[in-house]
Amino acid sequence: MDIQRIREDFPILDRKVYGKPLVYLDNGATTQKPRIVVDAITDEYYSVNANVHRGVHYLSQQATELHESSRETVRHYINARSTNEIIFTRGTTEGINLLVSSFGQEFMEEGDEVIISVMEHHSNIVPWQLLAARKGIAIKVVPMNDKGELLLDEYEKLFSERTKIVSIMQVSNVLGTVNPIKEMIATAHAHGVPFMVDAAQSIPHMKVDVQDLDADFIVFSGHKVYGPTGVGVVYGKEEWLDRLPPYQGGGEMIQYVSFEKTTFNELPFKFEAGTPDYIGTTGFAKALDYVNGIGIDNIAAHEHMLTEYATARMKEIPGMRIFGEAAHKSGVISFLVGDIHHFDMGTLLDRLGIAVRTGHHCAQPLMQRLGIEGTVRASFGMYNTKEEIDVLVAGIARVSQMF
Ligand code: PMP
Repeated sequence: MDIQRIREDFPILDRKVYGKPLVYLDNGATTQKPRIVVDAITDEYYSVNANVHRGVHYLSQQATELHESSRETVRHYINARSTNEIIFTRGTTEGINLLVSSFGQEFMEEGDEVIISVMEHHSNIVPWQLLAARKGIAIKVVPMNDKGELLLDEYEKLFSERTKIVSIMQVSNVLGTVNPIKEMIATAHAHGVPFMVDAAQSIPHMKVDVQDLDADFIVFSGHKVYGPTGVGVVYGKEEWLDRLPPYQGGGEMIQYVSFEKTTFNELPFKFEAGTPDYIGTTGFAKALDYVNGIGIDNIAAHEHMLTEYATARMKEIPGMRIFGEAAHKSGVISFLVGDIHHFDMGTLLDRLGIAVRTGHHCAQPLMQRLGIEGTVRASFGMYNTKEEIDVLVAGIARVSQMF
């Protein structure tokens, strides 16, 4: 992988903040966009733009073809069986809400249970709590050890005859833990229970093959995998999606409407009410093509090298505490140094041109488990370099000395 060559594709990486070269280590929150993604969006607005589906005119058909070919790109990327299994959403959050709402409506009654984990993002906790308030379902939580690994024995014990679904992240946005999701899916299936995977933090960093995992549902966002904001995906096995009621009503998701009775469109349109972000999906498909061009395995190897290097170097700093030391970890390092507040560390690193995230990372229950309020988080992307890690480590050391 020629990192310098890759960096040239991302114009923003050249900019300076406070007169310092930008060191962008907030990829877990969102990734930067390569030129071909932004160009594809601009080109479509300038030369194709028209609303998709049902249009007889030339531009509408061309826009529809682009939009539907993006769906095929996504299908191929995650190895789904059919484009009927690919639903475009606004992002992971909307995808989880869609599934919780539709699955909950059809398949869950008072007293039924969902299994989630202690490390979930709020977007995989709060929708279940809203459902619990509406329907009286119960939420069971898989605990973890101090390294940040889920306890699989405890997981297995949580299943009961009331368990209706499991919903767990593949990679933790805080700890970097790569959960053994394939094994966990097999356990759920052995209990006759479907499994939903929050793949927001795995899709950008590793091969995700829905058939190999045998996942029933997976959700992810385009903006975390070098694509535009506002586009995401729900993958669902067709036999499940067929049985779920629509999430939102409106245009596009219907077959026939009268005041007496309405029938719904076929998959995937049943779940796509209203005008989709058809230009966003073009950009998203370009981002996936770009990742394919570099190779997700190459990206994974590069990020693994960066994570190992950063972990070793950061541990040289006195008072360094790293949260998340799972045996299988992706490119995220959450840390605190001594009693320096995460916000102070983040603010001072920012002054050195280093963009990291601070706070609870939308995982307050995990913070409660760790007994802290928040962390500083450095998260890596394909374009980060060892030199940038050196800048980060020197920055942390400098801030530590100031306190
Ligand atoms: N799940 C995880 C694990 C995440 O890291 C994020 C984003 N931080 C989300 C869900 C929510 O994604 P989005 O904001 O794109 O909907």
